[in-house]
Amino acid sequence: MQSLTMIKYLLLVLLPLTLMGQRQSIDKDLFESYELYKEESLFNRRFKHEQISLLIDSLRNQKGIEISRLGQSVQGRSISMISLGNGETQILLWSQMHGDESTATAAIFDIVNYLKSNRSILEKIRVHFIPMLNPDGAELFTRRNAIGIDINRDALNLQSPESRILKAVRDSIDPDFGFNLHDQSKFYNARNTNKPATISFLAPAFNSNKDINETRGNAMRVIVKMNTVLQRYIRGQVARYNDEFEPRAFGDNIQKWGTSTILIESGGQYKDPEKLEIRKLNFLSILTAFESIASESYTSATLDQYLSIPMNDRKFFDLKIENLRFSYLGQEFKVDLGIKHKEIENKDHSEFYYLGEVTDIGDLSNYFGYTNLNAEGFDFKIGKTHPKILSDFDQFKELDFRSLLSQGYSAISIENMPPEIKFTPFPMNIIDVKNIRIPKNNTIPQSPIKLEENPSLILEKEGEVIYAIINGFIYHVKKGENLIKNAVVK
Ligand SMILES: [Zn+2]
Repeated sequence: MQSLTMIKYLLLVLLPLTLMGQRQSIDKDLFESYELYKEESLFNRRFKHEQISLLIDSLRNQKGIEISRLGQSVQGRSISMISLGNGETQILLWSQMHGDESTATAAIFDIVNYLKSNRSILEKIRVHFIPMLNPDGAELFTRRNAIGIDINRDALNLQSPESRILKAVRDSIDPDFGFNLHDQSKFYNARNTNKPATISFLAPAFNSNKDINETRGNAMRVIVKMNTVLQRYIRGQVARYNDEFEPRAFGDNIQKWGTSTILIESGGQYKDPEKLEIRKLNFLSILTAFESIASESYTSATLDQYLSIPMNDRKFFDLKIENLRFSYLGQEFKVDLGIKHKEIENKDHSEFYYLGEVTDIGDLSNYFGYTNLNAEGFDFKIGKTHPKILSDFDQFKELDFRSLLSQGYSAISIENMPPEIKFTPFPMNIIDVKNIRIPKNNTIPQSPIKLEENPSLILEKEGEVIYAIINGFIYHVKKGENLIKNAVVK
């Protein structure tokens, strides 16, 4: 008993004191201890309502946690709120009002795990989480709800039950701070830089004048605190979302209704396709915000610091290839190519594969890529289809792909290809012989590079294949380095 009391004393009194004394290291502690709190049952972006319902059920009857059932979605899926803390300052967070924006939902469960065993901060604040406000959209991993409404344009009309739930909770709690948690396209960057906007913030405007009152100013100050911490981990990868007033949106209206509202947009990060690192950054920045609200340290931040965060821009590709030279109809061209990966989902929206597509051609000197390749000095050819036709897929799996790529082949034809297979993990495309259509007898041949197509590019130097670009991924043939996540069946 005595040792328990001692442990409690250490946790409740000494630890916070230590942390207060070394404010610099709070984020370091959070960052380094994250794995202890990470909710392991959520491990990619396409989890469903059923999974988070189990998690919410597991929190029921836990000391210091209240679960409230708020209502249900159009299709009858429950929407619940998790509340913790005894402090006076009320904080409301809601995630995934857009069904395909799940990063913060997972982070919420990490944060709840953290708060369960780190309660000192909860003496000053009371936090309420609504994870997955749009469970019907999440089921299909799509933005809108089951009747096709964008909940974030329904704050005034309140036609969707999901919107009415959020409005009712806001009105009943009347929180001091609100966190509106979204994902943005991974193709956003911090303006005029080659850095992706991994996290973007906004203190939304509450009127078309974009006035700054105390409510909005406090949201800006908390954002400054979060940005300061994030810069230590993702320098230059934080941006500020456009603050054009959107009269129908929740963030703008909740700001107007007197809650200091903060939009957090989870964007893209290098080598983080399932956004697990960005989820950790949500954990870090939201707990940083809680700490700054609890200690009122945010009041020392200035609006100039907020305004110095670079604006969002949208100038990123998955792959940017510069200085690609080719000839067409007897003319020589030099262009840059921007390639993006679409995610093509399976029927139950639980898995996907990548389909690379050329989305821009020309002078892309002010655009950037997650991966960049300078084709200057290389001879470029379109990948060839091997003349031999294989009878089945099993034969394909046995091929020496690097050797075929080094001969300039990017595709193999297969006679009896199972129709359900649309992609493979192998670094070479498949031509399903059944799908071959005889091209129309055009009088003018097509350009080797076309918009919205999935190109296979071979880059050679002095007759030797150095790179093969298959489905928008690079295979460094000379080095034997394969960065191809999947190729496709055409
Ligand atoms: Zn959104």
